[in-house]
Amino acid sequence: MSLSEIIRAAALLRSGKLVAFPTETVYGLGADATNADAVRSIFAAKGRPSTNPLICHVADIATAKRCVRQWPEAAQMLADTFWPGPLTIVVPKTDEIVPEVTAGLDTVGLRAPDHSLTLQLLRVFDGPLAGPSANRSNRVSPTTAQHVREELGDSLDMILDGGTCAVGIESTVLDLSGARAMILRPGGVSREQIESVIGAVDVTGGVIASAATAQKSPGQYPRHYAPRSPAYRFDSSSASRLPEGACVLTLSNDPKEYAKRFYAKLRELDRELPSAIYIEMPPDDPQWLAVRDRIIRATQPLA
Ligand code: AMP
Ligand code: MG
Repeated sequence: MSLSEIIRAAALLRSGKLVAFPTETVYGLGADATNADAVRSIFAAKGRPSTNPLICHVADIATAKRCVRQWPEAAQMLADTFWPGPLTIVVPKTDEIVPEVTAGLDTVGLRAPDHSLTLQLLRVFDGPLAGPSANRSNRVSPTTAQHVREELGDSLDMILDGGTCAVGIESTVLDLSGARAMILRPGGVSREQIESVIGAVDVTGGVIASAATAQKSPGQYPRHYAPRSPAYRFDSSSASRLPEGACVLTLSNDPKEYAKRFYAKLRELDRELPSAIYIEMPPDDPQWLAVRDRIIRATQPLA
């Protein structure tokens, strides 16, 4: 990827076009966060409900501060520690971020992505880049440029190819706009890592509840990140109940390796449109929290 392509991508963004970009988490679908029409075309391309806010990508802390009314000490400490990286920080926004980005909320989620190509793009673009995952709404997130082409190729003005995403699942979203810091979505930076910097944080109930809890109240999880074939999760103790010849997703015993390959593997299995896909739940353990969250959102419990 040459500098001239990055300059072309930044010019497209400035003129209100859509550019897909690589990050360490998943590929993003980028538009100028200060341009309401450009942001609306993200929602149109994804088929995303306008009530679901987008996060914004910035080159650095200085650019983040231009987009916010308050930059708490905790935000500074966390950004110093984890940026560029998979931690999105939610803080009160300025009017520069158009309301379409945040679904009318007074806060914005910001992060600096850890990908050299996209950091270069953000420096040339010199502003906040709204960027949800570059997939159709409620579908599996893309971790290669080819995934983006398959999902959204026709509606994009450019796709920057930065290889395979290193983390493979979305960023942690941490809300710092309330009285207590709250993890809204588990992701690439763990609760323990955050707590080591700013002390105790809360986590929203539903998203990270254990699979056992989820089974007691099926339907509690919005279906997100879903493949086309029906997908079921099971505990190892239920493996004997799987149908013969079941299409089972198997991956690494290491949570980071698992996360890196999860979406690509799900896509690969889904391409064959099996009658169902089965996924074993990893241990109910802090290091598996984000992966368990994504599995729970992609599956129903095995009846
Ligand atoms: P995605 O665009 O798929 O990476 O999802 C972004 C996530 O961040 C969604 O779960 C949003 O609901 C959440 N989010 C983004 N901005 C905000 C905000 N200002 N306040 C609360 N949650 C947010
Ligand atoms: Mg997404």
